[in-house]
Amino acid sequence: MAMDALETTGSGEAGAAAGRVVNLFGLPRAGLEAFCATLGSKPYRARQLMNWLYRRGCERFEDMSDLARDFRGQLAARAELRLPEIVTVQSASDGTRKWLLRADQSQAFEMVYIPESDRGTLCISSQVGCALDCAFCATAQQGFNRNLSTAEIVGQVWLANRELGFQAGGPRIITNVVLMGMGEPLANFRNVIPALRILLDDLGFDLSRRRVTLSTSGLAPQIYRLAQEINVALAVSLHAPDDALRSQLVPINRVHPIAELLAACWHYLDEQNGRSITFEYVMLDGVNDSPVQARALARLLAGHPAKVNLIPFNPYPGAQFQRSSEAAIEAFRDQLIRGGVMATVRRTRGEDIDAACGQLVGRVTDRTVVRLGSRVEAARMRAAGAGA
Ligand code: SAH
Repeated sequence: MAMDALETTGSGEAGAAAGRVVNLFGLPRAGLEAFCATLGSKPYRARQLMNWLYRRGCERFEDMSDLARDFRGQLAARAELRLPEIVTVQSASDGTRKWLLRADQSQAFEMVYIPESDRGTLCISSQVGCALDCAFCATAQQGFNRNLSTAEIVGQVWLANRELGFQAGGPRIITNVVLMGMGEPLANFRNVIPALRILLDDLGFDLSRRRVTLSTSGLAPQIYRLAQEINVALAVSLHAPDDALRSQLVPINRVHPIAELLAACWHYLDEQNGRSITFEYVMLDGVNDSPVQARALARLLAGHPAKVNLIPFNPYPGAQFQRSSEAAIEAFRDQLIRGGVMATVRRTRGEDIDAACGQLVGRVTDRTVVRLGSRVEAARMRAAGAGA
C-alpha cells in the first residue's frame, strides 16, 4: 500500500515537524503493516497493534505492554489513536441507544445501537449529511457536509463497544454492523472500503461478512466497484417499483434507473457468491403502498435472489409524508409473498429518541448544502395520483 494512501490527520505542529501523524484507527491491516515498515518495524508489529486496538480495546500506546519501548516511543511521535468525541447519548424505552458524535468543531453525526434477544446491531454513519436528497429522509434535509474518514467510521464501532461495556475476551456485544446511518456509503468509497476491511479482519472486529451490511441508495457503478473489492451483505434502497416514481423519491434514479441498478445487484451476487440482496422499501401512505405497486414490485424481483424489507416511514419535523397504515403494510407484504418474493416488515426501534431509520441528523453548524436534484413535493405527487 502506498504511503499516500495512509490516512493522515496533519494535526498539530509536532506532527508536521515529525513528518505526518497517522491515526491508526484509519488503517486496515495492510496499511498498518506499511506504516510499521516506515518505522523500520516488522509486519508482526501491525498484528500486535491490531490485537491491542480491537481485541483488547486499548487506546493508549503506553498501555501496550508487549511492544518494545522504542517502538512505543516511535508510535507516540508518528501516530495517534484518535476517536470521535461523544457529545450526547440518549436511551430509548426499548433499549435502543443513540450517540451524537463530534468529528470536529462544526461536524456532528450519529450512531445507533439496537439490542435484540439474539444479536446487537450497531447502525453507523458514513458521511456528515448526505447529497442524495431522498425525499423522505431527514438526513437529506441538512444537505451534504463531508465524508467521514476511515477512522471516524471504525471509531464508531470501537466507541460503541467501549460504551456498552465490552471486555477483552468477553462475549461480543456488537454482532452486526449496518451502514444505514447518515450518508451514502458508496459515495464515500475511498474511506468506507478500508473501514469494512477492519470490521471483517479477524484481528479487527472479526465480524462475519453476512453480519456487515452496506445499504446504498443505488449508485450502480460503485456496486460494480464494490464487487471487486470486498464481500459484505448488500441492501439497496428501492422504494418504488417504477422509474417515474423512484426518480421522484430517490433522485439518483434519474442517473441510474432501476434496470441498471438491478443489473449491478445481480452482478454483485454473482461475483461475491452472495445469497441474496435485501431491497429496502419505505412505506409511504398513498405514495408507493398500493396493491398494484406491490404486484409491480413482485414482477420486478420474482425469480431473483431478493428479499424485500418494508420500512414503515418514520416521521421527522417538516416531513411531507405519512406512514402507511399497518393494514396497508401487511397487505403489501402478503402481496409480495404471493408474487413469489420474500418480504418482511422492519420493526421500528428507538422512535422516542428519533433514532429510527431516516431520522438521523447531526446538529451541524457550518454546513455547505449540496443536493442532487430538486426536492420532491409529496403533496403534488399525491395529487398527481402517484399512489394510484
Ligand atoms: N444512504 C443509504 C443508507 C441510509 S438509510 C441508503 O440510502 O440506503 C437506511 C434506510 O433508511 C434506507 O433504505 C433509507 O431509504 C431509509 N429511510 C430514509 N429515511 C427514512 C424514513 N424517514 N423512514 C423510514 N426509512 C427511511
